[in-house]
Amino acid sequence: MKAVYLQSQGGVEVLQYGDLPEPVIGPQEVKVRVRACALNRLDIFTRMGVRGTKREFKQPFILGVDVAGDVAEVGSEVRNVKVGDRVVLNPVLACLQCWSCLSGRQGLCERRGMLGASANGGYAEYVKAPAANALRIPEPLTYEQAAAMPTTFMPAWNMVVRRAQLKPWETILALSASSGVGSATVQIAKNVVGARVIATTSTEEKARKAKEIGADHVIVYTKEDIVERVMELTNKRGVDMVVDHVGAEFWEKASGSLAYGGRYGVCGVTTGYQVQFHMGLLFSKQLTFFGVMMGSMNDLREVVAAAGRGLIRPVIHQTFPLQQAQEAHKAMEERGYFGKLLLTVP
Ligand SMILES: [Zn+2]
Repeated sequence: MKAVYLQSQGGVEVLQYGDLPEPVIGPQEVKVRVRACALNRLDIFTRMGVRGTKREFKQPFILGVDVAGDVAEVGSEVRNVKVGDRVVLNPVLACLQCWSCLSGRQGLCERRGMLGASANGGYAEYVKAPAANALRIPEPLTYEQAAAMPTTFMPAWNMVVRRAQLKPWETILALSASSGVGSATVQIAKNVVGARVIATTSTEEKARKAKEIGADHVIVYTKEDIVERVMELTNKRGVDMVVDHVGAEFWEKASGSLAYGGRYGVCGVTTGYQVQFHMGLLFSKQLTFFGVMMGSMNDLREVVAAAGRGLIRPVIHQTFPLQQAQEAHKAMEERGYFGKLLLTVP
């Protein structure tokens, strides 16, 4: 099969396009003919060997966390999907043996793997995964839309809907609306929950796009102060929830924007992970801080159902054919995009 693979870590030139053997499946696995694979920042980290991803490859390694395609082959014990089904894959590979998994909380697996990070991913014509990770996608969703959802919508859904239980009469602050998690948060909070959404972004152009996908107000943080604007917009009360996937750079302003009883969800720290934490405010304002790492299979099921009804739609910035993976990585490093970048495998 054609694949884009790594044999060493480094710049975009280590992404090689060529032929590799097709994956061989076990009794409880499926082989999926990949149609679309979304890029994530994790792909860049794994390619470069930074942020704890330094490694040697004994075999050529295939990146690609978020995959959608057609089931091409099923193992002898697979019952949930059949050959020809259009599916999206949950990239979280639960061990099914730790106490979290055994208590039914695979999303909290203590020995979690990840498609495209610990196992070969979707930069290829075929990928294999546990059948339990395959979810059929409804007709209105394209492969590209489905592939653009897991890594962005699962944590956003987990934080907004399941953990914080945001309500329609509440206000949320969604940091960096141009990113995958940011744009997912805006849509879930607005179109699924019906809450009031304040988003932040860096330019006027991105602010326009954030409004198009549902933000009621957008703070251009390069020109305006986040806390001042939030307090103006909320009659000095603050927001009921913050969704943060950016980390240290915005921590002070974002946490300072919380109302009494506010919830603060974190699912990423791309700008840094060390901050000052004011414990006094924690109890005096009765705040809740929590972290999520992706989400559960049920989160993905709910996300896909909501997308099937048109309530949420991933924002796709650009698609590239598989063999142009190097160009796609360069585009991601340049950061001038709004929404997801994807590889397609026709
Ligand atoms: Zn486990």
